[in-house]
Amino acid sequence: MHGISSRGRVVRSAYGASVAGLLLGAVMLLGSSNALAQSSTVVISKSTRLDVRQSPYYKGYDFYAGRADQGTPGDGEIHPWHVQGNVWLMAGEPGESNVAVQVGNAGVLVVDTGTQAMAPKLLAAIQKLAAEYGGEQKAIHWVINTDGLMDHVGGNYIVRNGGNTIVGSNFQFDNPGLTPGATVIGNLNLLTRIPQPLWPNETHTEPIYSWDFNDEAVRLYHPVSANTDGNEMVLFRRSDVLATGDVLSMVHYPVIDSKRGGSIDGELAALNQAMELAVADFHMGPQEGGTMIVPGHGRLCDQADLVEYTIIVTTIRNRVMYYKNRGKSLQQVLAMKPTWDFDDRWGESTGSWTSRQFVQAVYDTLPARGKGKDRFAMPAMAGG
Ligand SMILES: [Zn+2]
Repeated sequence: MHGISSRGRVVRSAYGASVAGLLLGAVMLLGSSNALAQSSTVVISKSTRLDVRQSPYYKGYDFYAGRADQGTPGDGEIHPWHVQGNVWLMAGEPGESNVAVQVGNAGVLVVDTGTQAMAPKLLAAIQKLAAEYGGEQKAIHWVINTDGLMDHVGGNYIVRNGGNTIVGSNFQFDNPGLTPGATVIGNLNLLTRIPQPLWPNETHTEPIYSWDFNDEAVRLYHPVSANTDGNEMVLFRRSDVLATGDVLSMVHYPVIDSKRGGSIDGELAALNQAMELAVADFHMGPQEGGTMIVPGHGRLCDQADLVEYTIIVTTIRNRVMYYKNRGKSLQQVLAMKPTWDFDDRWGESTGSWTSRQFVQAVYDTLPARGKGKDRFAMPAMAGG
């Protein structure tokens, strides 16, 4: 309960006391299902509604963005930004997605490869970074894919061929054998999703997969069903950096690809897992600092951003669940605009991932209402 009460403190300071109840309910996936309905302690009514524009993380507010985006005036170039420890963010979003790079004495590890079109530039930027900050080994040895979407894996072939793989054990490290091409690692499910030339050449299916590189534990967390069924989140344990892939986006609501095994509840499970992996620095202020988080898209984050995003996604999920369980059709739920009070910050009416697409994905992937007690029913105190 310690973690939940500390989350409560933060949101109370950001939005006022009435939201603390919402947070507790949201994070625990319990209450707040009736947010568009009548009154209760967590209802979002005209007087008490959560106004994201009052949040310090509203998109108009330059929090980490100013730093992460420094030197990226939309110039089409890639600007490495030091996150912390051994990890860098290749700011400028090679192909609209974030690429994280770990550089150390043993060589280079790359998380995602952007689009194919940007890959030569990305490779050159990584090699320059390695020349400047690398140790004895400067080659790219590892590439991790956080999902199978082309804006994340499009550069696989080019980046892989820009590196090599160490063969032999660590005991031979002083004189390692090298074979051309880095090792690209991803979830097994990617093989059915992406063209063969871009395939990872090492796949796994475990929920957690770890190894040591550059003197730190690198841990892959595979959520069963988040945006797709092929996601990875990457934790650099000593640098204290978490790359979430599309599980967290600072650009829009999470993309949930139901045709590729994604689901809203899997997405929330992944967000909650990320929240547990991230630790805030309480000396800096509640929920801020500590673990740095590289989202799939948009600016660098910390735990506070993750908490806020999780609350919002949970709230929308519970609203849709409430009405779906009462027999409302998708069209009826869409007409109620269950994202309305968050759309100013997160919504899109056009483009590749609209609010309507998100609501539809939530509606479609919610589990059918089971028999027995409805744990998302309105609380008794709501009088409904
Ligand atoms: Zn993405």
